[in-house]
Amino acid sequence: MKTLPCGHVAHAAGNRLCRHVFDAVRTDYYALLTGRGIEADLCCAECVEAAERGDVPPLVKVCEGCYDRRAEDVSGWRGEPGITERPEPVDGTLLVTPLPDGLGTVLDVAGVPGRWLVLTADARLSLLDPAGGGEEVAAGILTPEPDERPRVRRLFRHRLHVDGDGRFAAVVNDHGRHGRVVDLRTGRVTMTLHGGGGGSTR
Ligand SMILES: [Zn+2]
Ligand SMILES: [Zn+2]
Repeated sequence: MKTLPCGHVAHAAGNRLCRHVFDAVRTDYYALLTGRGIEADLCCAECVEAAERGDVPPLVKVCEGCYDRRAEDVSGWRGEPGITERPEPVDGTLLVTPLPDGLGTVLDVAGVPGRWLVLTADARLSLLDPAGGGEEVAAGILTPEPDERPRVRRLFRHRLHVDGDGRFAAVVNDHGRHGRVVDLRTGRVTMTLHGGGGGSTR
């Protein structure tokens, strides 16, 4: 790794800043889409105009940190995104997979890439394969709620949420106050949630 023009010894960001944004001569700037996916260089209005005319504006390489910090403050987007196409027929066959024997009562289901995450009444989280079979990833995952008011009891439900990558799951109590975040790779609880004393978490 070598020292970048921003003065940091770090990985260069995939995209760049125009010289004027880099020198902070212009503090108002745009994310100029390069036509590769949603990649964008950060450019002042003059450099955006130059690029639209077909000229190449003066661009400076910076580290990912310097790029990301400035990317938070863009005034707008210019240019065109790249559109990726992959035309192919979609298989509309519905695949029905029976739940494994002994799984027990299912409280909630969430999709993770390629699999299903299932929360069962015996406080376990299991990852199920659409082709059949599965594995337990965590146990003892439900948090009880002490609230005995009948209205709350009636609405109370254990619910499951998964992040987009399928790495973390949150097991929370709707109309309760408690919940836990689980790392699905290790099965460990990484965070204990508490909605505070003023009401329910919903
Ligand atoms: Zn510029
Ligand atoms: Zn930097």
